[in-house]
Amino acid sequence: MKKLISIQKVEDAHRNIKDFAKVTPLLFSEAFENKQGFKLILKAENLQTTNSFKIRGSSNCIINKVKATPEIKGVVTASSGNHGQAVAYVAYKLGLPAMIVMPETAPRAKINAVSGWKAKIELCGTTSGERLVRMQQIAKEEGYFVVPPYDHYDIIAGQGTIGKEILEQLPDVDVVLVPVGGGGLISGISYYIKNANPKVKVIGVEPEKSNSMYVSLEKGAITRLDKTRSIADGLLSLEPGSLTFPIVKEYVDEVITVSENEISEAVGKCIKYYKTVPEPSGAVSVAGALKGDWGAGKKVVPVVSGGNFDMSSLSAFIEA
Ligand SMILES: *Cc1c(COP(=O)(O)O)cnc(C)c1O
Repeated sequence: MKKLISIQKVEDAHRNIKDFAKVTPLLFSEAFENKQGFKLILKAENLQTTNSFKIRGSSNCIINKVKATPEIKGVVTASSGNHGQAVAYVAYKLGLPAMIVMPETAPRAKINAVSGWKAKIELCGTTSGERLVRMQQIAKEEGYFVVPPYDHYDIIAGQGTIGKEILEQLPDVDVVLVPVGGGGLISGISYYIKNANPKVKVIGVEPEKSNSMYVSLEKGAITRLDKTRSIADGLLSLEPGSLTFPIVKEYVDEVITVSENEISEAVGKCIKYYKTVPEPSGAVSVAGALKGDWGAGKKVVPVVSGGNFDMSSLSAFIEA
């Protein structure tokens, strides 16, 4: 059987995405280190193109599709958040039409961020179920390619390029922590890191009230939650993906959960010590890192997955 994910595929992805995604920096803080003992080093995907890692998976997925089927007419996805922005940006760069299906309740700022890249927006209902139906309809009527947010091997390979970069930038890293929504980000990263250097620990982090990966791992099978709630609005998926779950099960050391308070505090710490602004979803990994007892000198790298955020609400996260 053809391997659906491999080190080679992640390396191919890294070449595919180089005109779209930056190699994001690692951010260090000596002041923080002196206080805590261990070294907390941020992988700053909040500084990525369109301000989240989503550009990696979506550019890899769309480029592979265009290579295989040059005649595709456009791309479509359903997302009010970072994935929608990333797909809109990649389509804009490639000169492809894009349609992004968003909820009727989507905030102005998110609509503007997508329409800034010339994508067409269709507002549809309030539930993700309604939007997925509409997305499939558009795909059929217009002949557009559906770019899924996480459950696709090209998306997973694209997100895995973060694992490759961390090992190149910090070969003696001890622990990598990753926010978990549908699980695409952590699947790619854990697959790459565990195959390249199994000594590195990979830990997933979820909000307490949006913990579908945690629950699914405990039950040993994909488990759907009735509802999810968190300020980390990029992590509200009701269940893990069918492709991501088996990868997480095999390669991730552990999934832990953090409280809403811990997430807010982590946002504040990133601003105070690193002078960088994560969105709450992006700081969930930092919150996980702050809970751990890692030992002196250990190199702990939370992936700060995004920075798209209503800046007028920032002061609420900052304590003197
Ligand atoms: C999408 C997203 C996540 C979660 O990624 P998954 O691949 O769905 O697990 C985490 N953080 C941010 C900022 C996101 O946009």
